[in-house]
Amino acid sequence: MKYAEVYRRSVVTPELFWRDEAALIDWNSPWTQVLDYSSPPFARWFVGAQTNLCYNAVDRWCATQGDQPALIAISTETNSERVYTFQELRCEVERCAAMMQSLGVRKGDRVLIYMPMIAEAAFAMLACARIGAVHSVVFGGFASHSLASRIDDARPVLIVSADAGSRNGKPIPYKPLLDEAIGLSSAKPAKVLLVDRGLAPMVRVEDRDVDYAQLRACIHEARVPVTWLESNEPSYILYTSGTTGKPKGVQRDVGGYAVALAASLKYNFCAKAGETFFATSDIGWVVGHSYIVYGPLIAGMATIMYEGLPVCPDAGIWWSIVEKYKVTRMFSAPTAIRVLRKQPAGLMRKYDKSSLKALYLAGEPLDETTSSWIAGELGVPIIDNYWQTETGWPILSIAKGIEDLPTRLGSPGVPMFGYKVRLINESTGEECATNEKGVVMIEGPLPPGCMQTVYGDDRRFVDTYWSDFKGRQVYSTFDWGVRDEDGYYFILGRTDDVINCAGHRLGTREIEESITSHPAVSEVAVVGVKDAVKGQVAVAFAILKTNAADHAALEREIMATVDRQLGAVARPSRVYFVTALPKTRSGKLLRRSIQAICEGRNPGDLTSIEDPSSLQQIERALL
Ligand code: AMP
Repeated sequence: MKYAEVYRRSVVTPELFWRDEAALIDWNSPWTQVLDYSSPPFARWFVGAQTNLCYNAVDRWCATQGDQPALIAISTETNSERVYTFQELRCEVERCAAMMQSLGVRKGDRVLIYMPMIAEAAFAMLACARIGAVHSVVFGGFASHSLASRIDDARPVLIVSADAGSRNGKPIPYKPLLDEAIGLSSAKPAKVLLVDRGLAPMVRVEDRDVDYAQLRACIHEARVPVTWLESNEPSYILYTSGTTGKPKGVQRDVGGYAVALAASLKYNFCAKAGETFFATSDIGWVVGHSYIVYGPLIAGMATIMYEGLPVCPDAGIWWSIVEKYKVTRMFSAPTAIRVLRKQPAGLMRKYDKSSLKALYLAGEPLDETTSSWIAGELGVPIIDNYWQTETGWPILSIAKGIEDLPTRLGSPGVPMFGYKVRLINESTGEECATNEKGVVMIEGPLPPGCMQTVYGDDRRFVDTYWSDFKGRQVYSTFDWGVRDEDGYYFILGRTDDVINCAGHRLGTREIEESITSHPAVSEVAVVGVKDAVKGQVAVAFAILKTNAADHAALEREIMATVDRQLGAVARPSRVYFVTALPKTRSGKLLRRSIQAICEGRNPGDLTSIEDPSSLQQIERALL
């Protein structure tokens, strides 16, 4: 196959292309229309057809490879390892689905999952998919305020959680954060289902909290038939940060997502049923949804769920897993590879990694040093892929399953099938020429698997992402990019105020709101600053209400506030104190100028600045 031909067909005749790919999954009933784009930018794929994500991920493999591994849950935090075959996985998922039903969950209800990387988290996601409940997984590293805003938006009837996660051998209690979040929220769930790992004490709330193991024990031999869903019914919500303080609920469908993942596993990952896939992300992020839980299973692969650090007990751990489970495809983030690179040489080399065919990296820009180093260590292709929570699967990459095109250092690659990628000049609205910087946009309709809408807010979906470009509606990725003469794209960072820290997307507004909730702070600006390991870190510049004597203590207090409200993942690496912030005369924060100063660059055009001395304050604070 030739990439150029496949790509052309996918964008010129998307209905024909996706109709063929739809054969990769099982359907209960056929569609009446492959694509309905009568109400742009809302695309409806496989209209009228019925399918189910859980059926495609689990049940359909039970007949042909039921006794083969499906879910391999490894925790180096609790030293546990458990392999579930497809049949065993189906039993656990059915039990979990029966438990949810006994707690009142019905089709269309939301179930919020706030869990560490344990098998029960995957059971809960798949159980929701099985009965048509809409899951909303919230990253376990988020704290009470982040969680509360997601509870309020999703209004779940049930929350599934656990006593604690664990990091570097230290329990991270979840229950107190969860109780605080429910206290803060105005949409309190009727029931909370709790896995007790015995890591942290839990205070039970009468009539609300239910113990997972106890309820499971009451459900023997549960058979919960699959609920067939119309392809465009929602499967899940996943919140992501943007420019406002309010996270957006990315809503995905059922059929389009299943087909997109099946096609992506085939073309991007050259998946083979029976092999093992290892994505090192977390179920709280989109990679966890697409490439830990649903994607590999839909392709009939065993998937590894790993709880632990990449360097504990030592930097050989991931490679020992590759050896033991004969992992063929591995997916990680550049930050993790940079962390490994700092470890003593030799630990990786101890293990037989000959099963591995390729390493896929995504979530943040992949620098050449990191890419070349890991390629040298592993001796396999390193495949960068660029995408976002909204799209659910890669926009740019090299699809080796289509054609073995060469990769190019620093570039994630070329547009993936189905994506009409455009580079648009921000000021003229014209399409960019070769090597001209522009905004990476996608012409509608978005391919299957991409977000359907912002949960509960169609207007916000249209207003946030879509604009008119010469009479055609285009979707903005909010990333800068450039394309070379051979059609390879290079991503040059965000156009908005979103930070990418260790591959995690954080909104500066959310962090600012958390910092200003500290009683001593009157105003704050948070910017993302380049970091050698994490890509970017958040740095805050705060104005105090009254001058404080002990800035170091106050900085620690502010960090603790962010930890408590949003989670340590959002904690700024530094909080500096100033008496003025650079703003335009109309009061808009000049974040890009602040960021430029922090990175030792020229702050740019400052003709509109209200108080030039504010910039000098930033410079002095950094000294
Ligand atoms: P998230 O939605 O959290 O996955 O973050 C998506 C954002 O991460 C994108 O909009 C990009 O800014 C960045 N990103 C993801 N993958 C890549 C990549 N391969 N290269 C450069 N930036 C990336």
